[in-house]
This record gives sequence, structure tokens and C-alpha cells, in this order.
Amino acid sequence: ESAGSDAKNLRVKLVLLGDSGVGKSCIVLRFVRGQFDPTSKVTVGASFLSQTIALQDSTTVKFEIWDTAGQERYAALAPLYYRGAAVAVVVYDITSPHSFHKAQYWVKELQKHGSADIVMALVGNKADLQDKREVSVQDGTEYAEKNGMFFIETSAKTADNINQLFEEIAKRLPRPPP
Ligand code: GDP
Ligand code: MG
Repeated sequence: ESAGSDAKNLRVKLVLLGDSGVGKSCIVLRFVRGQFDPTSKVTVGASFLSQTIALQDSTTVKFEIWDTAGQERYAALAPLYYRGAAVAVVVYDITSPHSFHKAQYWVKELQKHGSADIVMALVGNKADLQDKREVSVQDGTEYAEKNGMFFIETSAKTADNINQLFEEIAKRLPRPPP
């Protein structure tokens, strides 16, 4: 996972987990390409994208992002997918309590089978759909706190908090010794 990393330039594998339809692929495309495609149906099928960000301390973090092409439906495949991941971004849709429960399932899976020092983020996406909200900010915050995760609500549609999500993750990464 840290191959190609040094004290100034980190390279990390990042996986996204969560129910299909919550916006995982859209979050990736918004972050990497600055785009949102409202016509994409269930998944856009991007399997591997990378994006480098620079932090204020002049270090850089290159995220190697593994997006699923619907494999999230097959729980048995997941361990192959998140093996060696330094970061897991667990996404739900704030309009879908079912997706919030599914997110909790993934958090438990990662706690059981993920790397011991994995950085986990809980993301409530589709925050632009406030009038359809069914999962409160408080529910997300409390669950994340209990599980030692970073929590943020995002909108891939409006770009709200998308860069912040990745910047906060970058700040939380364990640093290799200089
Ligand atoms: P995935 O299956 O988790 O990868 O979900 P997708 O990224 O394919 O998105 C599923 C659907 O949700 C698509 O129709 C997107 O246009 C829509 N979507 C994704 N993110 C947002 C968002 O932030 N706001 C809104 N309103 N729709 C979104
Ligand atoms: Mg997808």
C-alpha cells in the first residue's frame, strides 16, 4: 500500500463502499474530473482513477481510487477489493435509511477484515436533497464518532464538500518515517 511513498509524497489505495446508487462513482468523478453527469444511471463503471492533492505542509497525497462497477452487490468479493486499502470511504445517501444501515454493515466488515490502521470516512451523500432527507446529520455524526471515523456530508451534484472530504482524509493518513 505504501510502495512508491516517501515522507513527502504518499501514495495510497482508497476504496469506496456502500449501497449501489448512493453516488460513489459520482463522488469519484467529481473529485477527479470536476464533473457530474446526471444521466449516468446506476454506475459509470470507472474502475480505477487516481488524483494527487497537495497539502499545506508541501506534502502530496496520490489517491489510487478503486471504484466498483456494481461489485458492492456481492459481499463475498469485497475482501479482495479492500485488501491493502489505506483508506475506506463508506458512503450512504441521506435520503435513504436503508443505505445508512448498509453503510454500518460495511463499517463492521472493515473493522473485522480491513487493515488495522485503515483510515475510514463516513459520507452522507446527496446533501443537495435536503427536502428528501431521511437520515439526520446527528445520526451520521454519532455513528462516526462511536466508530472512530471522520464524518462529512457531500453532494457530488453541487460539488459541496467533495474536495474537503479528500483533504480531511489526507490529513489523517499515517505518515511513513522520514
Ligand atoms: P453508485 O452506484 O454508488 O456508484 O452511484 P452513482 O454514482 O452511479 O449514482 C447513482 C445515482 O445518484 C445517479 O443517478 C446520480 O446522478 C445520482 N447522484 C449521485 N450523487 C448525487 C448527489 O450528490 N446528488 C443527487 N441529487 N444525485 C446524485
Ligand atoms: Mg458506481
